[in-house]
Amino acid sequence: SLSIGIVGLPNVGKSTLFNALTKAQNAQSANYPFCTIEPNKAIVPVPDSRVSALSELVKPQKTIQATVEFIDIAGLVKGASQGEGLGNQFLANIRESDAIMHVVRCFDDEDVAHVDGSVDPVRDAEVIETELILADVQSLERKLDRVRKQAKSGEKQARALTTTGDALLEHLNAGHPVVTFADKNNEAARQLIKELGLLTAKPLLYCANVREDELDGSATHFQDLEAYAQSRQARVIPICAKMEEDLAALDEEEQAEFLASYGVEDSGIKRVIQTGYNLLGLISYFTAGPKEVRAWTICDGWTAPQAAGVIHSDFERGFIRAEVVDYATYLEKGSEAKCKEAGVMRVEGKEYVVRDGDVVHFLFNV
Ligand code: GDP
Repeated sequence: SLSIGIVGLPNVGKSTLFNALTKAQNAQSANYPFCTIEPNKAIVPVPDSRVSALSELVKPQKTIQATVEFIDIAGLVKGASQGEGLGNQFLANIRESDAIMHVVRCFDDEDVAHVDGSVDPVRDAEVIETELILADVQSLERKLDRVRKQAKSGEKQARALTTTGDALLEHLNAGHPVVTFADKNNEAARQLIKELGLLTAKPLLYCANVREDELDGSATHFQDLEAYAQSRQARVIPICAKMEEDLAALDEEEQAEFLASYGVEDSGIKRVIQTGYNLLGLISYFTAGPKEVRAWTICDGWTAPQAAGVIHSDFERGFIRAEVVDYATYLEKGSEAKCKEAGVMRVEGKEYVVRDGDVVHFLFNV
């Protein structure tokens, strides 16, 4: 499954946040017997009110939400790209992640030491970004050395790679991440990004760890980080890691009261999970029956047979057709049978691109 790697300087609240995510996992783990539990991984359910609403309507034996995986990649520090400490291992872990969530300290607290002596989110974000850019420079330089030799012997594809590669290298050396490289979508750039697993090309989400009374995003530290993130095409969400940890220990009703006392509606963890899911380009479709109501995860753009393959590979191979209705209509009509009666259930073939919120019934040959 797709994963989000959590990075950040020491002492910014990563473990605190990760603990809250782990609690979200453990609270649901009985529903996910297929997930193995590992100490640095949290496979958490994606909060989706549509699943709950479907479940209330259909009253199935079991309700299963979509999941997303977070990986705690602690220990990224200044000098990581130079192989200081365990630097290279951390970078390898990030390379394996599909997206990056960067936790940045925005809270003032005299009792919590800062590695650089003061709270300065933009400086911190730059420290980590510099390491990631340097790591990309190294990967790219090594690759270009090899490709240049091929380009000399006149290989056309190698020439295209060196032209784009050199421009990208210059961009990185000027301190910019791959995501802001103008030609990042040309064929050569895409090949380089994929083959080298370039770190600064990955979707990035900043998690601004703010004080519990600064969740509205009005504080200066937060706004500084927001402006910086915008220049990086990254998103930012304010969260108070400490509050999330406390919150995760409460039951649902107590959580609602707790949140209301801070004037917020949703827990930060909920937004972190949902935003992370979107960041990965993931969407959900639903199956609904008396046995099970379930959200299935697919990539935006997948066709009906591909989507069926998530349930079982036989479903993809033997795909005949899909009966589809959007979630809102399903809810309005009340059941699959009523959707059929009303003639709103569509029959879709192999080319159909499944949409977020589709309720689907697959027909297949085994
Ligand atoms: P990590 O090194 O990034 O994993 O940071 P930790 O999660 O271990 O947190 C470092 C210290 O900061 C701990 O003492 C936490 O209790 C404290 N901390 C974490 N989040 C918050 C927060 O939102 N507010 C405050 N005041 N302290 C926090």
